[in-house]
Amino acid sequence: MARWREAVPHAALPPETVPLAEALGRVLAADIASPIDVPPFDRALVDGFAVRSPDTEGASEADPRRLVLNREILACGVAPSLDVRPGTATPIATGGVLPRGADAVVMVEATEFEDGPEPAIALSQPAGPGRFVGYAGADMARGETVLRRSTLVTAREIGILAACGLAEVPVVRRPRVAVLSTGDELVAPGTPLGPGRLYDSNGAIVAASVAENGGVAVPGGIVPDDEAALEAALASALAASDLVVLSGGTSKGAGDVSHRILSRLGEPGILVHGVALKPGKPLCLARAGDVPVVVLPGFPTSAMFTFHEFVVPLIRALAGLSPREEESVEARLPQRLPSELGRTEYVMAALARGIDGLVALPLAKGSGAVTAFSQADGFFAVPATQGGIEAGETVRVSRIGRAARPPDLMIVGSHCLGLDRLVGHLAGRGVSARTLWVGSAGGLASLRRGECDLAAMHLLDPETGIYNAPYLTAGLALAPGWRRLQGVVFRPGDPRFEGASAEGAVSGLLADDAAVMVNRNTGAGTRALVESLLNGARPAGYWNQPRSHNAVAAAVAQGRADWGVAIRTVAEAYGLGFLPLTEEHYDFAYRESRRDEPALAAYLALLDDPALGADLAGLGFTRAGAK
Ligand code: AMP
Ligand code: MG
Repeated sequence: MARWREAVPHAALPPETVPLAEALGRVLAADIASPIDVPPFDRALVDGFAVRSPDTEGASEADPRRLVLNREILACGVAPSLDVRPGTATPIATGGVLPRGADAVVMVEATEFEDGPEPAIALSQPAGPGRFVGYAGADMARGETVLRRSTLVTAREIGILAACGLAEVPVVRRPRVAVLSTGDELVAPGTPLGPGRLYDSNGAIVAASVAENGGVAVPGGIVPDDEAALEAALASALAASDLVVLSGGTSKGAGDVSHRILSRLGEPGILVHGVALKPGKPLCLARAGDVPVVVLPGFPTSAMFTFHEFVVPLIRALAGLSPREEESVEARLPQRLPSELGRTEYVMAALARGIDGLVALPLAKGSGAVTAFSQADGFFAVPATQGGIEAGETVRVSRIGRAARPPDLMIVGSHCLGLDRLVGHLAGRGVSARTLWVGSAGGLASLRRGECDLAAMHLLDPETGIYNAPYLTAGLALAPGWRRLQGVVFRPGDPRFEGASAEGAVSGLLADDAAVMVNRNTGAGTRALVESLLNGARPAGYWNQPRSHNAVAAAVAQGRADWGVAIRTVAEAYGLGFLPLTEEHYDFAYRESRRDEPALAAYLALLDDPALGADLAGLGFTRAGAK
């Protein structure tokens, strides 16, 4: 870190001048002094009459003062031509120029008009000197510094600049940041995915983060893991930018070439390769001539951590902004979090409103996950000297992104497309919800620990044959959700399944060595169903235990497995065959004592909404009998 800061100047780029209309979002490169007085003249602050204050002394309803009107009307933009002499007044509009002789304005409401050969007003209130007068320069005086350098230009600053007549503004030049992604497996969003291919998400995230932090992203696209291609792409990026950010290819594996190229693109070359951070160890920091180069790890979460740690401060410094815009909040960790000694570990966390204050829920999706970053409200560090953080300890969570705030409702448990719909309806009613998929049992445990408002679950009690209710503990209540048809999924046309029953097909396959299944994770409601089908057997594929219906369907659709258990909605989405097993109950557990809290109450009420019911029916779910 120190080596990086020393070798790469973290200072604002030189200024440039832009038209006022383009200054929004830019950073002022210099102090701005007003070239004029604002307002430029003494002006009336109300509609009324410009007067000499001594003429109004002692005026009252009972004893009004008569002032003869001067024969001009001072509308806005009219230069006065007549003095206000003793005993006279001049009609003036709000914003009109105060005429010579006048030192106060009286409101039209405090006067009676007297028509006649010599029009006049009868004034029933006195006006002290300066009454309803805005003096020249009262807002901004000529020469006064009205904005400081390094200020981010927002609508407010634009207003000030416009009021002093400045049509051009000196701003810090925006750093041009070349963004490249490397990897033979990557394809750009918008193009079809081939087998084994992956959409380039890092490129898009990095480009957007560059813009969010005051830079201009120069998209360099996807470069294959080919030494010559990468070297050429890097050379042209270096020539056209202030900073180059590359992702992928930092591990020293066979196909990974970027670190090799960096050592010959220009002095001093690689400054740091590998840092004591987790995730993000394979980060590579270099400088080729004057241009810094950062190679982020390919895994999206690692890429974003290292980007935030090492690149955001640099981009912001080049753009003339303060190092970070994020703030931090304290939150309690509900569960012990183990960590590796000797490496600072960064953990993405979602913030939730717990029973007594904010709770930080670590998003344990692994460094390959894109969503760990986008669902997180922030992150916290576990110091290298600590082997973990105990349950109940407080951590300081640095917020990422603007205005990230905890949702009104936190829903943890098993995923369902129907719940996604419900959350959409809820948003339409102004209630924000965040969902976290950890399986039915995980959701219930999270509810018991007070980390969430609702546990979404489908757990069958084998003894009673009843779903969910037998698992509730004291203080918890169950809101009935909907029913989902579970069954065995297979590729259509597979003769081992077509026309069979679920139980029959599976028991037939248990003897078939060539057949491969896909299981579910422990704690999933579906796992219990799989186990009852298997009846103690452990066929090939048993240890492949993904965490969602979709992963099961994908494994079968892509031929990595021949069968698994999933809900019908998902089977249909993947074009799979389906043999029904049972209708499971997908319900929501919550804390009885919190049922009247507005967000939870809105959720419970929404369950009975016919529009939601129709939506669920469209997905193939049957709404359970309302209580
Ligand atoms: P690498 O650092 O190139 O070894 O990549 C590590 C992992 O991150 C691999 O699974 C890559 O497929 C994945 N990955 C690399 N670059 C990207 C990217 N731009 N977008 C999404 N995933 C990526
Ligand atoms: Mg790669």
